[in-house]
Amino acid sequence: MIKLAHLFFPPKCIACGELLPRELFSRSFCAECAEKWELAKKSCRAQNNGRPVKEIESFDEGGAPELVPYSFIYTPGKRKNPENALILRLKDFGDKRCVSRVATEISEIIAEDIAVITKNGARHGDALITWIPRRRTSVKRFGFDHMERVAMALSKKLAIPAVPLLKRRAFAHEQKHLGGKERRINAERSMMFAGRTPLNGKIVLLVDDIVTTGASLGAASKLLRDAGADRVIPVALSATERPIDAGKRRIEDNFNIIKKNNR
Ligand SMILES: [Zn+2]
Repeated sequence: MIKLAHLFFPPKCIACGELLPRELFSRSFCAECAEKWELAKKSCRAQNNGRPVKEIESFDEGGAPELVPYSFIYTPGKRKNPENALILRLKDFGDKRCVSRVATEISEIIAEDIAVITKNGARHGDALITWIPRRRTSVKRFGFDHMERVAMALSKKLAIPAVPLLKRRAFAHEQKHLGGKERRINAERSMMFAGRTPLNGKIVLLVDDIVTTGASLGAASKLLRDAGADRVIPVALSATERPIDAGKRRIEDNFNIIKKNNR
């Protein structure tokens, strides 16, 4: 069925902006971008034993690392890749089709977790969805918190309530300019628990857009556990390899090669 609005505003591909042909009106991507998007996800899965997961340091003293499943690698600067375009559009416009695409993707990433929760007899009332809130300056600039929108869409999809449980403090620095240790300290100071009631026994799905060092997710996860959550399940749409990490690994690789050659 063609909606009247489509006659005046035919839907465009959310990645490249190309007008969508009529048979693709219900989709988010044009055929070409859809194919690239599937390829990007597929290669990410192939490189990560079928399920891409980022290991992040626990903020609990001596706690085991937390595992954050995600869907694809976000490459800053590569605007033309559909997966990057999706994230940038989500942050810049947060429009309904884009939000809905992201919510669908996240629901697929955590499908197994949801199945386990349900199988273990937890009722949906035992689970909550929350999100890493956007920095206040960005909310002011763009007028919305994109992850709040994603959490609301995800809530509809999974029939699990989405609740704002975290709040940014005013002075939060932008994480991307900070190193690993500074990020950790900044993350710990920049958020606080903002739930109205303690989370006794709840399972909390904690959603974010991009996991870099995992400092925000780690800090948030601890705040939620400290507020009484039984279990926190962090999930991110994508992960980024920071140049510094890649550089470090290269140095280690070179070091191993030197070791090998010296044997
Ligand atoms: Zn396209």
